[in-house]
Amino acid sequence: MTKTWYPVIDYLLCTECGTCVSKCPHGVYDTTKAPSPVVKDPEACIEHCHGCGNRCPAGAITYVGEDTGWTPPNGSPEVAQSGCSCANSDSSDKKALVEYLYLDLQTCDRCIGTDNVLDEVMMVITPGLQLAGYKVEYNKIKIATEELAKKFKFLSSPTIRVNGQDVCVSVKENSCGCCSDISGTDVDCRVFEYNGESYEVPPKEMLAEAILKTVFGPEESGCSCGAYQLPENLKRFFDGKNSKCSCGGNCC
Ligand code: SF4
Ligand code: SF4
Repeated sequence: MTKTWYPVIDYLLCTECGTCVSKCPHGVYDTTKAPSPVVKDPEACIEHCHGCGNRCPAGAITYVGEDTGWTPPNGSPEVAQSGCSCANSDSSDKKALVEYLYLDLQTCDRCIGTDNVLDEVMMVITPGLQLAGYKVEYNKIKIATEELAKKFKFLSSPTIRVNGQDVCVSVKENSCGCCSDISGTDVDCRVFEYNGESYEVPPKEMLAEAILKTVFGPEESGCSCGAYQLPENLKRFFDGKNSKCSCGGNCC
């Protein structure tokens, strides 16, 4: 049977960073051609996985068979323009918009761990949501600068929003060694509270429950559209990061 789900690369957009080749755990890409992305085994690609597309910084990956409403996160005009998913959501639509906002996916164990857990959860629940008639969109947004933090009303890293609502009801944080190293200053990051325990990387069941409850539950007003002030903790992070690197926060 011909495979109907596999990645397609737009080589005009691709910057040959090699991320997709190195991150796919299923051998879809030809690693001998890295960093160029060459799809060598489309049969091995997992139906409805967007793992490489979600990581591609150029928005260069789409999928044959795409029927989820997903768009490349780094090429999504919807995300780029608004900063708040509430402005984009139409309550008359059956839509599940999941957004992952983070500071760093190179060094920070907490962001990387949460990213991996969220990928797994989305891979499992997306078919069920689609079966229930929901259009599923999953975007990842790197909060690389203070300006982006303000634009997305970012309160704590990492943040997971479902249809604009933070899956955590409040911000709880503890010291984050990785982000402290990145910025050269003391920085706190998010801890996730679930069933009386605190987790630096949320358990799968917590995220699955939070996402499904938000999608299927009554609409709440916990969106990120309200007044916003950059938390002192994040200001310290960006100031520290910028003082360590002249890129203005864009390369690191
Ligand atoms: S969609 Fe998933 S399985 Fe398919 S190539 Fe990308 S990372 Fe690999
Ligand atoms: S992740 Fe995107 S930009 Fe990087 S090599 Fe793959 S397709 Fe090209």
